[in-house]
Amino acid sequence: MPWIYECRACDAVSPRQQGRREDADEELLAHRRVEHGGLAPAAGDGVRRVHAEVRGEGFLPAGWGWALLFVLALMLSNCWGR
Ligand SMILES: [Zn+2]
Repeated sequence: MPWIYECRACDAVSPRQQGRREDADEELLAHRRVEHGGLAPAAGDGVRRVHAEVRGEGFLPAGWGWALLFVLALMLSNCWGR
């Protein structure tokens, strides 16, 4: 899962997601240098994980829901068989 940098003082987020946490940390430091004189903003900032794809979201959870239902149905039918 990719990482993004977020600054709550400026409401700034990474323009693009970073594949590695180190790259997002790098962005955090670069932002602090440019916007805050190298200091951490009082409002807080940090690096957090995000979902890789925006498209496809909503589809996957639905798929998992059906899979779960299927497993439950299997378990129930197994119980009734006895
Ligand atoms: Zn900032």
